[in-house]
Amino acid sequence: MHWETIPKDITPGVTPNLTDYDQASSDFSWSQARTALAGLPDGGLNIAHEAVDRHAGPDHGDKVALRCIARDNAVSTVTYAELARRTSRFANALRSLGVGHGDRVFTLLGRCPELYTVVLGTLKNTGVLCPLFSAFGPDPVEQRLRLGDARVLVTTAALYRRKVADRRASLAGLDHVLIVGPGAEELPGTVSFDALMSAASDSFRIPPTSPEDMALLHFTSGTTGTPKGAIHVHEAVVAHYATADYALDLHPEDVYWCTADPGWVTGMSYGVIAPLVHGVTVVVDEGDYDARRWYRILGEQRVSVWYTAPTALRMLMRSTPREGPYDLPRSYDLSALRFIASVGEPLNPEAVVWGKDVLGLPVHDNWWQTETGCIMIANFAACDIRPGSMGRPLPGVEAAVLKQGEDGRAMVTDGRVTEVDRPDVAGELALRPGWPSMFRGYLHDKERYDASFTDGWYLTGDLVRRDADGWYWFVGRADDVIKSAGHLIGPFEVESALMEHPAVAEAGVIGRPDPVAGNVVKAFVSLRPGIEASPDLERELLAFARRRLGPAVAPREIAFDQNLPKTRSGKVMRRLLRARELGLPTGDLSTLEGSG
Ligand code: ATP
Ligand code: MG
Repeated sequence: MHWETIPKDITPGVTPNLTDYDQASSDFSWSQARTALAGLPDGGLNIAHEAVDRHAGPDHGDKVALRCIARDNAVSTVTYAELARRTSRFANALRSLGVGHGDRVFTLLGRCPELYTVVLGTLKNTGVLCPLFSAFGPDPVEQRLRLGDARVLVTTAALYRRKVADRRASLAGLDHVLIVGPGAEELPGTVSFDALMSAASDSFRIPPTSPEDMALLHFTSGTTGTPKGAIHVHEAVVAHYATADYALDLHPEDVYWCTADPGWVTGMSYGVIAPLVHGVTVVVDEGDYDARRWYRILGEQRVSVWYTAPTALRMLMRSTPREGPYDLPRSYDLSALRFIASVGEPLNPEAVVWGKDVLGLPVHDNWWQTETGCIMIANFAACDIRPGSMGRPLPGVEAAVLKQGEDGRAMVTDGRVTEVDRPDVAGELALRPGWPSMFRGYLHDKERYDASFTDGWYLTGDLVRRDADGWYWFVGRADDVIKSAGHLIGPFEVESALMEHPAVAEAGVIGRPDPVAGNVVKAFVSLRPGIEASPDLERELLAFARRRLGPAVAPREIAFDQNLPKTRSGKVMRRLLRARELGLPTGDLSTLEGSG
């Protein structure tokens, strides 16, 4: 499979923040990066001070921080000065409830202006914020509230009624439930968020905060198993700032939109914190995905930097195939858009090129995890793009590809690991600990945390290869890689090849045990609208994949499935496809989309 490199394409008049990759990598230090932040007036470092208070003065206070688009499309704005007052009110409100340093405040909210108030107000009060997906069902909500020692939950009346009310009695530590919007009066044991806010003062002095104080608790997506609660500290803001500078190319005059759900790490690090620390205007869309709505927001709000995910891009691709017609995007003025980035799962080359053709800009893939807290590997504005590649490590990030053992993970011999010695050999991606947003633990699971480190490296569980020029290519999760007739096959490569066929919308690929080959590749495929599944189409897709991938790697079997199981952050759940196929227990499904 050959995809042409896409040459860098920089908007006239905008100098990228990272112009010379090699130079920036050799000059960079995290301590230098920290000097771009203000720090608390009395010393220490607090995320909320960097995100709001320091922009709230006379120079910047009138600038729009949030531009909120309600479900009915009504637009309202919140300035930095107003956001500073609101977050101070919320910090005071928490204090009035006796909630303080280190106490866990959970949100079960969609993206709405109150979310920003709660997140940043909690951080001002030096509490710990833990966001949940609002689409979670009662079980996963209860499980996480319990696992995370929730003291406060901020949600809406409807969500509380459906997901928490009848579990409340068993959640002894949950002292306060605050209801955003109407309805608190009818719900015993809850308090109105608005009433609390209006009773609180809008001036608050952030107490001394150590960079090592716990700030955020994030449950991982649960793609591979039980969700883990990753702990992040205030120092993470240094990494949020620096990586948004380089990997998202944020400039002060940008209008920025991140489509990630606030329940997921991306929705927090890059939906709330990083853009506000940069002082840009953030678009907050309260609505759900809809191709027309999204194109309209991009156009009408003059979005210039857009951070989204492969699953969202694939939905847009369904509505607007690369072959055209482009009527839908063309009916909006997308001329302000100058940079698009994507994260969460592999970005098929097809999607990168689709961006170029349909939106006029390629999509810049980047890689990171809940545990890393910030973007680690990325395609940069000022560099050529190799479609299908995650890019190169950010300045300040030391990455390595480690030789694999039998189980697909890094091979450890006498406590030591070894790097692969040639380009293009797959191995486990490892990162040298020490960047500021590195997770500081899995809550209540020290053993699992300790097991993530070997021989001075953090082991990511992902398999990658590095080409001769230093670009990283995702191969698969160590658990997902298929061993077939002596080959190691990354599901992503097979999925991407299938997606090049015009009938295919999405694909999920697994290994099915086979007496001869060990495993054979089986693909689950969803089709573009209007296309019917048929034995002929199956034969055609099998032949298509064989031509592209060769017989050793191509799928042997294809099943059509219009509802591929996905996590709420949009990843195809291969472990579930595999479990269903093999009749195995399906494991923890709390993050399965549609399970709530
Ligand atoms: P769990 O750890 O609970 O199984 P998860 O790993 O899906 O869930 P996240 O931290 O949300 O939870 O996702 C990080 C993972 O997502 C990465 O380890 C990688 O497998 C995948 N990922 C993220 N970005 C990319 C990308 N650009 N290309 C390929 N894979 C990616
Ligand atoms: Mg993970």
